[in-house]
This record gives sequence, structure tokens and C-alpha cells, in this order.
Amino acid sequence: MKHCIGPNDYSKDDILELITLAEDIIANPKQYANACKGKQLATLFYEPSTRTRLSFTSAMLSLGGQVIGFDDAQCTSVSKGETLPDTIRVVSNYVDIIAMRHFKEGAALVASQYGSVPIINAGDGSHMHPTQTLTDLLTIHKELGRFDNLTIGLCGDLKYGRTVYSLIDAMKKYDNIHFVLIANKGLELNSEVLHDLKTYNNLTFTIKENLVDALGMLDVLYMTRVQKERFTNDSDYETSKHSFVLDAQKMTLAKEHMIVLHPLPRVDEISVEVDNDPRAAYFRQAGNGKYIRMALILKLLEGYDIASSKEKIYSVGDKQCCNTICVTQSEPVRYLSYNLDSKSHCAYCDYIIK
Ligand SMILES: [Zn+2]
Repeated sequence: MKHCIGPNDYSKDDILELITLAEDIIANPKQYANACKGKQLATLFYEPSTRTRLSFTSAMLSLGGQVIGFDDAQCTSVSKGETLPDTIRVVSNYVDIIAMRHFKEGAALVASQYGSVPIINAGDGSHMHPTQTLTDLLTIHKELGRFDNLTIGLCGDLKYGRTVYSLIDAMKKYDNIHFVLIANKGLELNSEVLHDLKTYNNLTFTIKENLVDALGMLDVLYMTRVQKERFTNDSDYETSKHSFVLDAQKMTLAKEHMIVLHPLPRVDEISVEVDNDPRAAYFRQAGNGKYIRMALILKLLEGYDIASSKEKIYSVGDKQCCNTICVTQSEPVRYLSYNLDSKSHCAYCDYIIK
């Protein structure tokens, strides 16, 4: 059984195959209108995410399939104490494929061990959200026609932005990628990821203190949501607004073919006056999310072997993971780990086991 658990399970060929299918669906939607006729998708959302759930629902309906599910676990047997493995075993009897969002890191991997149908991770805590990363990749490919030779600006909250880490990981597969890191004070990329970036020959990066200094060099500007509560005082927040908010005036500094991406929802890091600029691709990006999910559902239902070459070797261990939001803290699962850079990592949440 094949699943979609992490954004970096995919090889370059896998990604290109999915994206090519998504682009064909965009070009010829009627040809796919009955592709999943008679099939059912369950959306199991243990934490709310209306946007993601609607995108999965719309994707399945547009393939001619049906959708069941919940978006509030309190209304289900979970509130009676049912474990995740049991819920997944039961739901697997009813549907052909499951999209699951959960507040515990590693929950999707647990589901994949107990489900008898393909599982798509629709977000597990702040850990992984592979369909967002695939959406970003589809948008870059559709807008710019390539993944190599790109200068990508990452702006805003680089510390807590899950999408940023996943995009960096995804781009490691391509040639001649230059990242420009433009972070709010206190929200810089963590030092481990920076250190990791230095180990790749095909990747380089520079750090800029504001958008104005970076804009002229970028092919892609990836903006992220900056939450006011991340700042320790109001003056830092006001300074950051000045340096990191994208507005129409700053857009005059950007290349003619640069694209602006944002995983949405935005707060005020992109001024609404930018929305009508043809380079503002973030609403097109949101639309692409539906098509990459259609492609993924189709491929998984076909039994597509999406991660065969990249499956990690796990070993059964007895050391407990110390991450308090790891799924192993609350679910009765077999404890698994893997080795990377001579360190032992939790298979579910990727934390280093000490
Ligand atoms: Zn863990």
C-alpha cells in the first residue's frame, strides 16, 4: 500500500510525473470528470483547516468521486477514547482513500501503518504538509517552467514557517538554487537548517535584512504569514512591518517575471494593492492546490508507487521520543527510529533521540 506522508518522499521523477498530470487536468478537466466515479475519499480532520479540507473535497468531487468525513474530532468516537489505529482500521472499511489532518506530529505515519487504503497526510501538527509543498512546486513549474537555476527569496517568519522548511528541502533536488533569506528579527531560519544548507553543492544562500535589498535579484518571492504574537514588543513589530511588508512601491524593484507566492492566509505582509499585479501568483497558487490533490488522489488510487526508492529503514527501539507533541506520547504505537548523520531520530516526528 502506498501513501503520501512526507513532502520529501518524492524523487524528481515522481514530482515531475505528478505535476505533469496536474497540468493536464488543468488543461483538460472534462477528461477527468469521472476518473474516480464510484470511489470515496474520507477527510478525517482532527483539527480544523477549512481551506485544506475544502480543497480535498473539491478535488475528489471534480474527479466524480464522493467524500465523507469529519472536521471536529469531538463529535466522533475519538471523544470516547478510541485510538487512532482503531479509527483508521474502521474507516478503511468504508472508503478507498483517506486524507487526514492531525494535531500530533507523526500521526499520518501511524495511520499508514494501520490503514488498508492509501493515506494522504493533510498536515500533522507543525511537522509536515506535503500537499502544500507539492502545490508550491506545481505553481513554480507552471509559472516559470523550470525548477533549476532559480533565485528564491524566503521572507517573513522563517523560524516557525513549516512551508519554508519543506520548500527548502524540496529544492535540494535541483541545480543551481540560490536562496535569499529575509527574516524578521527573532524569526530567522534555525541554525541547524542553515548549517545543513552549507553542505549542498547545488545550493547557495545569502541573508538580507530587508525586502528592498533583495527584490531585484529574485525569480520567486515566497512570503509567509507573520503573527504579531511572535514579537516580544510592539516596536519590533512596527519595524518589521516597514522592512518586510510587500507593497506596490517595492514591487517596482522586482524583475518583470518574478512571482510572488504565499501559502495563505495572509495577515498584512502583502498589501492588497499588490493583488492586481500579474506577478502576484498566490491566488493562482491556492487554485493549484486543488489540481495537485486531484493528481495525487488519482495516482494513489492507481496504486502508484510514489516513494519506493526513498523509504527510510526503520528499526524498532525502546527509547521514548521526548517531543511532547509526538504521536508516540498518546497513541499505542510501536516505537521506531532511523539513523541520519550518525544520530538516532524518531521515525514519527524526526526529533533526535537523546
Ligand atoms: Zn517523536
